[in-house]
Amino acid sequence: MDTLDPQHLKRVMRFSTLEQIWAGIAAAEAANLTPIKINSVVVRDYNEHDVVELARLTLDRDWHVRFIELMPLGTGECARLSLSQYVPNPETRGRLEAALGPLQELPMQNPADEARNFRFGGARGVLGFISPVSEPYCGTCNRMRLTADGKFHLCLLNDDELDVKAALRNGGGVEAVQRILLQAVRDKPTGHRLEQGVSTERRLMFQLGG
Ligand code: SF4
Repeated sequence: MDTLDPQHLKRVMRFSTLEQIWAGIAAAEAANLTPIKINSVVVRDYNEHDVVELARLTLDRDWHVRFIELMPLGTGECARLSLSQYVPNPETRGRLEAALGPLQELPMQNPADEARNFRFGGARGVLGFISPVSEPYCGTCNRMRLTADGKFHLCLLNDDELDVKAALRNGGGVEAVQRILLQAVRDKPTGHRLEQGVSTERRLMFQLGG
């Protein structure tokens, strides 16, 4: 969710209305799909000022609102745009503290959690900051993606992949998938190389599932 301003939401999201989204969240909460987690990718000249109202949701609700840094995937214009519109999470944190007061960091519950979690004094909910660029957490990352075309994609910001579909089509069965999984864990990059100008080039975020 990028903003709580109905007009701005209409302009930037280009589909749905705040009312519809809100009804979906209320239905999820009524169905006990808790804690409710609202993710927002913060983008320069787009929604960097909307973070305050989103964060305010945690004051009287036990929700998790999480701010995610824009990740420079892809090449050419795509990468250039994401770099020019990147907002570091320390900037977002500063903006929130200036508006709503100091944040207290919460103890890490799970070392593989990609978010650093905070709370405003007296607030019911949690604010998470997912900062793969400014504060990388690659050392504890346990994520891999299985793509729709049957590849294990080992790290969001690298191109390394292992071909699961080919192994199955070649009759390898479950054993082949087990071997690939073990190899995937061994080969998973230990971190991204954005500072050396290296990123995922062969896929975009929508092909990876975030
Ligand atoms: S290892 Fe890759 S997927 Fe994991 S946090 Fe680092 S960049 Fe993201």
